[in-house]
Amino acid sequence: MSRWVQVNTPKVGDEWKPMSLQEAFEKGPPPVGPISVPGDFKDNVVRVAKPYFRDEELQRARDREHVIEDPLALYVPYHSPEMGIYFRVKRMLSDFQAFASKYSWPSGVTVNELWHIYVMTIFWHEMAHHVVEDVATLMEWMGGSNQYPLMSHLAEERFCEFNAFTTAERQPSPPGRHKIPLLPSIQVPSGIKGKSGVAPFNKRLILSCLYYHWGRDYPTSTYRPIVEGDASHAVDGLWNGLWGAHKGGYDVVKAPYEIYKCLYCTTL
Ligand SMILES: [Zn+2]
Repeated sequence: MSRWVQVNTPKVGDEWKPMSLQEAFEKGPPPVGPISVPGDFKDNVVRVAKPYFRDEELQRARDREHVIEDPLALYVPYHSPEMGIYFRVKRMLSDFQAFASKYSWPSGVTVNELWHIYVMTIFWHEMAHHVVEDVATLMEWMGGSNQYPLMSHLAEERFCEFNAFTTAERQPSPPGRHKIPLLPSIQVPSGIKGKSGVAPFNKRLILSCLYYHWGRDYPTSTYRPIVEGDASHAVDGLWNGLWGAHKGGYDVVKAPYEIYKCLYCTTL
């Protein structure tokens, strides 16, 4: 515990910044063209996702209590028996198709690289909502009263998006052998694998395009990846330790269920 409280958290004003696309396409490897997502790729994603669909459970949670609803995924907090991260598969696939065909990609980037980063960015965003809840729980244990939600809706969304982009760039894979329902393989595709060669450029390029595709460059965007004052203060001293543990695949706060076992899909 003492190690966590000594570690400071993301600072007010920290922001994930993309590369300029003009610069990327001028300085990077020559672009080959847009990518159209093959039908069998989508079929395979849906096939892999099939055992994880939990529409009824999600609807029950939604009818009963507060659920965090993002455009492409949802997070059900852990006071609910339906706790978990729910990927909105249909919406994701249709948005992904628009994303992949919007930009001209270099040869090291294929549909697999794009999908991997796409899914992991959404995953880390929802995971950040979960860790915010962990921080609130820990504060409750230390200070007594119920602190959740810890911050305004806007501050939390921006904070989660900051962690999503930052982490997807540094760690584009789940820890250990943990499986993400929408990724047919836990192997990181070769074009974004490793810390040398073209991989760092490709990761940054894909994330930058995603940033523009999702309109994160609009200053008023709810999901602008920036740390607001009330977010930084709300998680102060506790964030890095808890976030690091989840990136490593460990549950720190004794939640009713382990989050990596609560990753689901939904058509809702
Ligand atoms: Zn969110």
